[in-house]
Amino acid sequence: MVGLGIAGMSAAIGLRRAGWTPVIVERAPERRTGGYFVGLFPEGRQAAVDLGIADHLHTRNPQRRSGGNSWSVDRRGRRRPALGFLDQPGEPAAVLRGDVEAALWQGITGVEVRFGTTPVAITEGPAEVQVLLEKAGTGAQYRESFDVVVGADGMRSGVRRMVFGPDEDYLTTWNAMICAFQLKEQVPSYEASDSIIITRAKRAVWVFGLADHAPTALLTYRTADIQEQFSGSRVQRLRSVFSGMDDPVVRHVLDSLEKTSEHLFDSVHQVRMPRWSKGRVVLVGDAAWCMNLYSGMGATSSLRGGAALSAALLEHPDDLTAALDAWEAGLRPFITKHQRTARLKQQMFVPSSRRAEALRSVLLGLVRRVRGRRPATEADGQRAQAVSGTSR
Ligand SMILES: Cc1cc2nc3c(=O)[nH]c(=O)nc-3n(C[C@H](O)[C@H](O)[C@H](O)COP(=O)(O)OP(=O)(O)OC[C@H]3O[C@@H](n4cnc5c(N)ncnc54)[C@H](O)[C@@H]3O)c2cc1C
Repeated sequence: MVGLGIAGMSAAIGLRRAGWTPVIVERAPERRTGGYFVGLFPEGRQAAVDLGIADHLHTRNPQRRSGGNSWSVDRRGRRRPALGFLDQPGEPAAVLRGDVEAALWQGITGVEVRFGTTPVAITEGPAEVQVLLEKAGTGAQYRESFDVVVGADGMRSGVRRMVFGPDEDYLTTWNAMICAFQLKEQVPSYEASDSIIITRAKRAVWVFGLADHAPTALLTYRTADIQEQFSGSRVQRLRSVFSGMDDPVVRHVLDSLEKTSEHLFDSVHQVRMPRWSKGRVVLVGDAAWCMNLYSGMGATSSLRGGAALSAALLEHPDDLTAALDAWEAGLRPFITKHQRTARLKQQMFVPSSRRAEALRSVLLGLVRRVRGRRPATEADGQRAQAVSGTSR
């Protein structure tokens, strides 16, 4: 097993439940914690139950009675009640990525984990896979044989590159960037667990409010030149991309970014593969089918992938090929569906044009009215602004 993320740990639990003895190698020197906001959908929550980790999973959905409203801010700086990420059908559970990983970590107690270790060569034989492993720091290398290798090493998977081919064959480029990080403090004048959405043509700022934790922020924008985005200072780059959005929320988020020591800054892609396994090597999670953040289904599908792998291996205990065939046949329709809808969801996260921005606003306004759900009232928004003086 390569990778100690949600996909790797889910698959490790799945394999162990099917009677295997997984070993996880992880490039990082230690287990990471924290991370960004993740919405966990019903299929993910069910998979957490199937994997036996649901009781360890800490969720952070804000309570509406103590703040926890979602607001959008329009071009004139007016704050309005809005439908937030958590108002989607399926009512996702609000967690940090680290909450899911912490729950899975409890579920893999007893599994051997080798930190600071990376596979550098993988050679498949008829009955086993030989892996050349390298220790970070010393550079020492050693060979070891495994019955199966599971690549759960993320969107830019090294296992995929070594066994299936170069990134260009599988990574589709979405001409978009993200920057996600934890805010130290909520945006002034908002309740601690409020969520704030500012979407403009080609750029957007999201603040995700949580019940018992400072919010997390997501900056996302569209660009035709991905390579250029990785040059120079990230903070300067983001300040320049979001210049002209002179709103107190945007200012607070950018100032917070400047002070934070940890953030994720990356381009957006989807991984499309005709098949997720080759002989005794199988890919799971972002390595195999990264749907990207706009789908909101990466963590959910990674949990589900591990639970489904367990079921397939239990059903075909003596036939790995049959087990992997059954696993992929069962999972692929779910993945394909969500890979497709991610394009539409991207318009909700960051509209492609002024027209799309207006359409999004009308559409979500209608949905809010039809659902009759008024997380807060217009008057609440005006009152809050009057108090904070953010109205312009
Ligand atoms: C900003 C953002 C928001 C998101 N929001 C949501 C959401 O709302 N809902 C949702 O379901 N999903 C969401 N996702 C997606 C979700 O976080 C991922 O799909 C999920 O975490 C599964 O990741 P993974 O385990 O496949 O890969 P990763 O999390 O990338 O883990 C890969 C692991 O492999 C290790 N590794 C990498 N290379 C090597 C190597 N060569 N050798 C050894 N180890 C290696 C890495 O260190 C890491 O620990 C979001 C993603 C982002 C970026």
